[in-house]
Amino acid sequence: MTQRIETDVAIIGAGPIGLFAVFELGLLDLKAHLVDILDRPGGQLTELYPEKPIYDIPGLPIVTGQELAGRLMEQIKPFAPTFHLSQMASSLAKLPDGRWKLTTDADTEIVAPVIVVAAGGGSFVPKRPPIAGIDAYEGESVHYAVRKMDAFRGKNILIAGGGDSALDWTINLAPIANKLTLVHHRDGFRAAQHSVNQMRELAAHGKINFEIASVKALHGEGSALRAVTLSGADKREWEHACDTFIPFFGLTMKLGPIADFGLNLHENLVPVDTEKFESSTRGIFAIGDINTYPGKLKLILSGFHEAALMAQEAFHVCKPNEKLRFQYTTSSSSLQKKLGVA
Ligand SMILES: Cc1cc2nc3c(=O)[nH]c(=O)nc-3n(C[C@H](O)[C@H](O)[C@H](O)COP(=O)(O)OP(=O)(O)OC[C@H]3O[C@@H](n4cnc5c(N)ncnc54)[C@H](O)[C@@H]3O)c2cc1C
Repeated sequence: MTQRIETDVAIIGAGPIGLFAVFELGLLDLKAHLVDILDRPGGQLTELYPEKPIYDIPGLPIVTGQELAGRLMEQIKPFAPTFHLSQMASSLAKLPDGRWKLTTDADTEIVAPVIVVAAGGGSFVPKRPPIAGIDAYEGESVHYAVRKMDAFRGKNILIAGGGDSALDWTINLAPIANKLTLVHHRDGFRAAQHSVNQMRELAAHGKINFEIASVKALHGEGSALRAVTLSGADKREWEHACDTFIPFFGLTMKLGPIADFGLNLHENLVPVDTEKFESSTRGIFAIGDINTYPGKLKLILSGFHEAALMAQEAFHVCKPNEKLRFQYTTSSSSLQKKLGVA
């Protein structure tokens, strides 16, 4: 069912720059909705380097990717943004009243005068495992993400992978699955240690199975999966019955549907001016890694600056008849009220 939302700003991408944009927009009383194909906010920070220390965020001498994403989430809390996660921003259309309609692949429609493209290096898309004929099962028995947990209730699930997504979904789906097996080619994981411990405890109590093996082949009729062939470290092969296969083999970044939004692109980046960070289309802004301009540095701190300037112009697009007064958070009681600190 289509969900239609009207707001001030629709932000594509909940990476660090999309998140900070919520703050800058919020100070100007502009409400934001964010869309991200990932199932959690943070973009590259949480997906590519959650545990790596970052040393060049002003005022934070050392902070990991995960911590920075957490800090940004805390900072934007007063503005209560709405997240539409696990959704791809798939099309953009101009409405007769001049506003934009952003539609996602989950049929969410966000109508807003301002669109902020904070899509980084593009949308994260799952890597398909190299198993012959896997595409025939996709969408029905093979899934690369868990969008609605209830769709997996009572299933015989096989999850493959050794990272955070594989471990998190093993833990979360175990209580609702009929049977759940995690398969990984070695007895070592790239996931958070507490998730690994939790998974091992579930296995020790017989709530899930853990196999050290690789998936070699899929068997079924049409798009309905019946079993897979697993191959162990000793090259022994056996058939494992399951009706659902969820491989987590990592993600790659692709520009994706934004390429078809009718924006003027230069080498898959959105050219912007450096006064407002607006694209050549009125009302569509681009900030963070996705934009380009002379001297652009793909740094988080540059994106933060771009978000602040974007918000000023977004205000004029949303409220053309209102005046904008420059204020500091340290001394403005009205800003402090918005932040819930006054
Ligand atoms: C290993 C590594 C180390 C780094 N170290 C540093 C460092 O020390 N200091 C520094 O300043 N920078 C560093 N960077 C760069 C920094 O991470 C990026 O500059 C920053 O993440 C850009 O933020 P962003 O919000 O623009 O984009 P991203 O973080 O890429 O987030 C964009 C989001 O948009 C989503 N998206 C895109 N298209 C769509 C769509 N159509 N629908 C739905 N969602 C979509 C993506 O899924 C993604 O979550 C590092 C990068 C890497 C890979």
